[in-house]
Amino acid sequence: MKITNSERMFEQACRLMPGGVNSPVRAFRAVEMTPRFIKMAKGSKIYDVDDNEYIDFVGSWGPMILGHARDEVVEAVCRAAKLGTSYGAPTGAETELAQHIVDAVPCAEMVRLVNSGTEAVMSAVRAARGYTGRDLIVKFEGCYHGHSDGLLVKAGSGLLTENVPTSAGVPAAFAAATLTADFNDEKSVREIFAEYGENIAALIVEPVAANMGVVPPKPGFLEFLRTITRKYGTVLIFDEVITGFRLALGGAQEYYNVTPDMATLGKIVGGGMPMAAYCGRKEIMSMVSPQGPVYQAGTLSGNPAAVAAGLATLNILKAHPEVYKAIDQKGAMLEAAYVKAAKDHCVEACVNRVGSLLSVFFTKGPVETYKDVTKSNLSMFRQYFASMMESGIYIAPSQFESMFVGAAHGDEDLKKTAAAIDRAFASLGE
Ligand SMILES: *Cc1c(COP(=O)(O)O)cnc(C)c1O
Repeated sequence: MKITNSERMFEQACRLMPGGVNSPVRAFRAVEMTPRFIKMAKGSKIYDVDDNEYIDFVGSWGPMILGHARDEVVEAVCRAAKLGTSYGAPTGAETELAQHIVDAVPCAEMVRLVNSGTEAVMSAVRAARGYTGRDLIVKFEGCYHGHSDGLLVKAGSGLLTENVPTSAGVPAAFAAATLTADFNDEKSVREIFAEYGENIAALIVEPVAANMGVVPPKPGFLEFLRTITRKYGTVLIFDEVITGFRLALGGAQEYYNVTPDMATLGKIVGGGMPMAAYCGRKEIMSMVSPQGPVYQAGTLSGNPAAVAAGLATLNILKAHPEVYKAIDQKGAMLEAAYVKAAKDHCVEACVNRVGSLLSVFFTKGPVETYKDVTKSNLSMFRQYFASMMESGIYIAPSQFESMFVGAAHGDEDLKKTAAAIDRAFASLGE
């Protein structure tokens, strides 16, 4: 068989980079395929080095809500780059972006710009610890908050405190400061707070879990987290790296009308450039250096080209609030296509969707917890994925990721995708 350009490039890359990639999920391991090497992307489409065209529902894992290479965004980046790509000194554009965030995001009174979601979460947790003078944090199993040591932790079997690193290289002592609860399970949270509440600095949650596939919060769950954290003086952090500027301009906190103490933003806020932010109540953010004693810094933080991309993106979203309704409707169309295909071809599947975030799980459902997610049939997912790629639909190569619908997806794209879903499910039903 003829070897493709992607296969050849992947082989070269594997000799020089661990797994051939700079971020693990890109390697297509879960689907046992070769990753497509990308040449370019425009609007809703992405093109690989073998000249295959795909309708892209990964969207760089969230940032490309306006589609790839949107003219206004690219032009803003080029304009900024021509004036110098980094100064290591403040600019007015950073303040403008901070103002955007404060205007849009309910909990945001002050903002710090950083370079990645990982950094935003790590820094927000540090600020919360500095503010409360406490060490422990609570996270939920199946929620992803980047790859900092203290957050690569899951529950061990047995006692509440027996938490274990999910990665080699994370000291057990770090894992011990992170307690793990079950998403959508109030009881698991109550038990942890009853035992350790006075020592918990922060509880961090993806308000819509979107890194175990999409799992919406049950009605009342976010309100419950607000209430219990307030009772114990714990800082409530919404990790809105995915949901921020996606579910609404003000993110999940606007969408669900629950205001945390702090939020982390990433992906969309950088408009496809490496940028993220953390923000929150003034008294907490005032703890951050040089105003306060919590140290956090960055050579490239607030980078002018990245800020330009973020500003251009947020300006468009702010000027066109109808985008949110439109992408919600597109999401609903895809959801309907999955439901119909599952029914028509007798495939056991369950679709979860919040606005423009959705995923299909190959299990009967409902999928409301991490445990439910793990019941998915992964070999069916692999078969479905291969069929979608064959049909020219680029989706995340893992059961545990979201599909990202954006402003650039047109009617034709959605029709093609619905037909591809039907074909994939027909083959699964055979
Ligand atoms: C992507 C993601 C992160 C990490 O962001 P990076 O920019 O990849 O470091 C953190 N939290 C959530 C919810 C994410 O989806």
